[in-house]
Amino acid sequence: MTGPDLLQPKRVLKITKRPHPQFLNNAFLDPYVGCEFACAYCYGVKEDRRVGVKTNCAFALKRELEEISEENPEPREGKVSIGISFATDPYQPAEEQYQLTLRALELAKEKQYPVQIITKSDLVFRDAKLLSELSNDGLCVVSVSLFTLNETAAKAFEPHVPPPAKRLEMIKKLREEGITCGAVLMPIFPHVTDSQEELEKTFAGLKDAGALYCVPGILSLAQKGVKERVMDVLSEHFPRACYQYSVLYDDAGKPSENYCKKIERLLKFCSEKYSIPSILPVLGAALNRTLIVEDSI
Ligand code: SF4
Repeated sequence: MTGPDLLQPKRVLKITKRPHPQFLNNAFLDPYVGCEFACAYCYGVKEDRRVGVKTNCAFALKRELEEISEENPEPREGKVSIGISFATDPYQPAEEQYQLTLRALELAKEKQYPVQIITKSDLVFRDAKLLSELSNDGLCVVSVSLFTLNETAAKAFEPHVPPPAKRLEMIKKLREEGITCGAVLMPIFPHVTDSQEELEKTFAGLKDAGALYCVPGILSLAQKGVKERVMDVLSEHFPRACYQYSVLYDDAGKPSENYCKKIERLLKFCSEKYSIPSILPVLGAALNRTLIVEDSI
């Protein structure tokens, strides 16, 4: 693999009209394009695991946050809650060199903006002190992403990231560092990782690790390229599931409504049994006033 593409976009912050229904952020920052971890189910992966680096990210973000502050001079008005790198891992290998996530977190602290990150990488511990300070101010949530504790399935679908057991340890350590932390349980694979036994095992593991929440999601095959990559892995490692997927998923790549309802009931059961909510702690005082939090399951 050759080096990353160096990019200089005009703007880096994408502000949405309504908060994200599950993650609650109303702004998104992607310092990187593509993700070197290349999980088979991810729509953020580029061909040949290529990665683009927005080298002007910190500069552009500072300017854009200042524009928001100028338009909204009241200290707590007009705040955005920033989801950092939701379509790419903010702590993928390129971050070691370019430190764009670190710079964004420093800016969030300086300007008191709430941020959320989702990662599978233990490079997150490099920034533990800063994340802990932000958490203390109610300005930060760190979500560790894992879709199963089944090592075989994890190795098949995401061979380039730490194994699930290590990610449970990450949650434990992040909580010990005083960081507001929970899990993103995505994607749930029909007929592979969706049994009650398996989901309960995962919720029990999250409970032991001290996860404050668990936001779940069922596999979608709607995004370009995802279906092909997922079916390749299924046919190699879980061939019996291939036919089941052809029945369960429609042409748009969505699973059937009945299936979704069944899994939603199961997740609700797990969430209640293990006392792990399926919603995030709300970020920041400004957002506390404006967000309507709805349980998504
Ligand atoms: S680590 Fe996250 S962003 Fe990166 S490929 Fe995997 S799912 Fe996608």
